[in-house]
Amino acid sequence: MELSKTKKHKDEIYTCNRTRCGFCIQRCPVYEVTCLETHSSRGRNLVARGIMEGTVEVDKEVIDLANTCLLCGYCEKNCALDNTQIFRDFKSDLVEAGMTDKYLEEGVESVNKYGNPFKKLPETREIPELKSNPKSKVLLYGGCTYAITHKETLILMAELLGDYKYLGKDEPCCLNILWDSGHKKDFKKKQKEVVKILNDANVDELVTGCPTCFRTYEEEYGEILKPKPIHFVTKLHQMVKDGKLKFASKEKVKVTWHDPCHLGRFGGIIDEPREIIKSVKNVEFVEMPNSGLDSHCCGAGSGMLMSYPEIAIEISKKRYREAESVGAEIILTFCPTCEHTLRRGASTIARDEMEFDDDFDFDKEPEPKIKVMNLLEWLVKRKVK
Ligand code: SF4
Ligand code: SF4
Repeated sequence: MELSKTKKHKDEIYTCNRTRCGFCIQRCPVYEVTCLETHSSRGRNLVARGIMEGTVEVDKEVIDLANTCLLCGYCEKNCALDNTQIFRDFKSDLVEAGMTDKYLEEGVESVNKYGNPFKKLPETREIPELKSNPKSKVLLYGGCTYAITHKETLILMAELLGDYKYLGKDEPCCLNILWDSGHKKDFKKKQKEVVKILNDANVDELVTGCPTCFRTYEEEYGEILKPKPIHFVTKLHQMVKDGKLKFASKEKVKVTWHDPCHLGRFGGIIDEPREIIKSVKNVEFVEMPNSGLDSHCCGAGSGMLMSYPEIAIEISKKRYREAESVGAEIILTFCPTCEHTLRRGASTIARDEMEFDDDFDFDKEPEPKIKVMNLLEWLVKRKVK
């Protein structure tokens, strides 16, 4: 099979094959769960070489190993190679040969048809509570998740911004799912439409709460996009620094922060959320063992929750256990995907730990000991200014 895009990385792949140093394997979140070398960067690079040299046939196992990568970048941080770009190109070669993951395909088809991965009509992005100012130079960009499934958070963002423009049904998807799943041709084609809409909006800033949209616009659009992508945490941090917002908790509480991969490792926004949390009175901030640049993915990166949910949930359970190991009572984050996935991991652990005594209530869902919350939703209840 011709791996034309992967071949561009031939030198890097051969360097990896020769060194086999394995720094990428230690604590790769997927490898930690599956213990399969082919699920690590080192193993995937070896399989890619086998296909390029004609010694490995492409079968279901190869499609699986190409897609069981979160593209979280943890390995890349420990390696001189550009692993996540190699794997995107590897996936892209497989996609162009018609070898795709069926669950990811559903999301891709939905983006092509509806402009979002949830099979919802564009009108679903309309939110009556949002009062768009057509003249504002700040675009409040929901992204598919906050605009469709987590509207409450978007409304809170709007309240704090005050003056903003919101595109509603005309808002485009950032197309990350096309990019990460290897649909590069579709991405390049549709990217032009997205750029036109966002540039025509005549704004200076594109403010979003979704780390994936933020990073996709910053990295994959770059110069062609006129508005500057900004994650909402940066805005929030500035408001706190300027003394415009103050927070206090009534009870003493231990809180930790989960760094979304696209916000922390890729986006470099690591200190800001910590400084916001530490500014809240009565709060003790505790750090998980894997944090900041070394943070672990929630488990859902690159569509893994759709395509390999068992692996994704196991990874999110490990993240919960990390928070538990430092005595956290709340895990805060700012990413709709991380929030959802970490909650799934937390409730799975709560069910696993249920104790069946005489008073057991079969109708009641067990409550996880540690709550997973969006940073802004947690903060607004503690606002004193
Ligand atoms: S991917 Fe990088 S860290 Fe992993 S074995 Fe290859 S060269 Fe070493
Ligand atoms: S990007 Fe993340 S999941 Fe993929 S191989 Fe690297 S560490 Fe593992």
